[in-house]
Amino acid sequence: AFPSVNRKKTGNRSRKLMALNGETKTESTNGEAKTESKNGEQVSRHQEVGHKSLLQSDALYQYILETSVYPREPEPMKELREVTAKHPWNIMTTSADEGQFLNMLLKLVNAKNTMEIGVFTGYSLLATALALPDDGKILAMDINRENYEMGLPIIEKAGVAHKIEFKEGPAMPILDEMIADEKYHGTFDFIFVDADKDNYINYHKRLIDLVKVGGLIGYDNTLWNGSVVSPPDAPMRKYVRYYRDFVLEFNKALSADARIEICMLPVGDGITLCRRIK
Ligand code: SAM
Ligand code: CA
Repeated sequence: AFPSVNRKKTGNRSRKLMALNGETKTESTNGEAKTESKNGEQVSRHQEVGHKSLLQSDALYQYILETSVYPREPEPMKELREVTAKHPWNIMTTSADEGQFLNMLLKLVNAKNTMEIGVFTGYSLLATALALPDDGKILAMDINRENYEMGLPIIEKAGVAHKIEFKEGPAMPILDEMIADEKYHGTFDFIFVDADKDNYINYHKRLIDLVKVGGLIGYDNTLWNGSVVSPPDAPMRKYVRYYRDFVLEFNKALSADARIEICMLPVGDGITLCRRIK
């Protein structure tokens, strides 16, 4: 069922990225600017890591970052962002504006018990850890421990590592274990999902029972680099098209789910907030 392009270990770094993580934005091999063909026109992309946005104007996005985000970014998050920028898969990191958004959201809802699926080097994890009270908890899952350990010294230095329980491995079996044990039901204040997009619907089936009534689930990349509105015959990379269909189906499913209230925000690559109401 999985297209061969996603399984192949080709020399193309972005394809490798997709194979491992189900998320990438460009064909860049060095994190530098890239031009993409869109309706026959060359469209230039943001040049720096984390400078991706769905906004029409790059200048406007830069304005947000430079006026409101970077000057207020906590030092450990800045350090982690800079370390992550050197990672060959840096394109996967949560952007600084989305990190700021998550941090404030968690404080607004007084989150204490949280979960994150898809950690990478830990930028969103650190944004979460810094927002939680000292006895707050984050159950963090990723199939890759190495990337988490790259950011861990910074998280430790920030004094928030004690809030994190990291589990290495695919999230689904861990969620299934929790579902099998009633004591986890309805216990999470906030859950951030930023991993394999083709599993979001399967995660949702489980997370809806694990989040509290009144609690939030945030699904990341629900606008899938804007491809959700591309015409069916638009030129698209195979993996973009492949995950796009899952994202489209997932967005429809959330829209029809009476157990939640939803809000889809054009922050980062799109984040859909779901508030469990029953
Ligand atoms: N939230 C991260 C940040 O702020 O940097 C970015 C996460 S990155 C986009 C996606 C992550 O999902 C990768 O680190 C990848 O290893 C992880 N992943 C992919 N499939 C997974 C799975 N089945 N279970 C858990 N993690 C998975
Ligand atoms: Ca993401």
